[in-house]
Amino acid sequence: MGYVLEMEDFSAVIDALKKDYRIFAPVRKEGAGRFTDVDCVIYDEISDAFDIELTQKSDYSAKEWLTPLSETLLYFTEEDVKEADLPQKPVLIFGRSCDLHSIQRTDQIYLKNGDAKDPFYQRRRDLIKTVLIGCGQSFDNCFCVSMDTNQCDDYVFSVDLIDGNVYSDVKDAAFDAYFQLDKTVETKSVTPQFVTENDVKVDIPDVIPYQIITDDLWDEYTTRCIGCGRCNFVCPTCTCYTMQDVFYRDNERVGERRRVAASCMVDGYTNVAGGGQYRRTNGERMRFKVLHKISDFKKRFGYQMCVGCGRCDDVCPEYISFSNIIGKVSNAAEQEVKS
Ligand code: SF4
Ligand code: SF4
Repeated sequence: MGYVLEMEDFSAVIDALKKDYRIFAPVRKEGAGRFTDVDCVIYDEISDAFDIELTQKSDYSAKEWLTPLSETLLYFTEEDVKEADLPQKPVLIFGRSCDLHSIQRTDQIYLKNGDAKDPFYQRRRDLIKTVLIGCGQSFDNCFCVSMDTNQCDDYVFSVDLIDGNVYSDVKDAAFDAYFQLDKTVETKSVTPQFVTENDVKVDIPDVIPYQIITDDLWDEYTTRCIGCGRCNFVCPTCTCYTMQDVFYRDNERVGERRRVAASCMVDGYTNVAGGGQYRRTNGERMRFKVLHKISDFKKRFGYQMCVGCGRCDDVCPEYISFSNIIGKVSNAAEQEVKS
């Protein structure tokens, strides 16, 4: 069923949902951006519908909750290990179509990548239901249409803010009750907004020749990229992490084990015993990241890893564009095939 609600009425829906769910959504943090007086849109638990940022693409993605930058997995003492608690209240996560597609990618890595499932990811994933934020327009640097992630039907209900009213398509009938608090509310046919065209387009070749690995197109990034790793931390599909054991000062045989996000673009990521390092230059690191996103993942799982959200372009302090790099790879691949 579909509903068209004034914002105040939608606020009452959120208040009712809060009794049964924790709700995580993009929120605007004033002045928290990387320049003075620039805002940042990040994921946070909301207590009010008016806090949800529905008009702008978030700078960070929903993985802020699903795979936190730092998560304590367990506590240890001399004798025992105890798994860290996770609140069991179900969670609603608001995300745009590309964001909901990105959860499919993180599921693939943590739950469908071999026989074992990651239990710490699984227990978070089991709590989640997703809410679609419709896209009435394409944002800067988005190329979701090229990546086939511009449409999505994996949501319990959708939200489109149009002329001050909230349009919702409720797919999971269990959620109709939250929208029918006012028994006189009318149902309507509502279709979420999806973009059908982006200014930025990419065309990823079906086959990327092996020679691309040694192509000099990567050299530019050895000097341009500063290896800050921001592109990885905003990317909804980057899942790499490292482990840290933290020993408490009072008793150094007691402590906690944390999973902490890692970045393939940061120096030290490929360090191995004996002083070895597989990818020493930022150009080599860029090659690894790009080919993982647009080739290697697909070879293993049959679909592209990158969802075309453009956040890596938005955040890069060196104005390096992922979609431009895809264009360079496509051109180089075409030249290779011709030669
Ligand atoms: S590589 Fe860039 S465009 Fe692709 S999913 Fe990650 S952040 Fe988005
Ligand atoms: S954000 Fe830009 S400069 Fe930083 S590691 Fe990524 S590509 Fe390099």
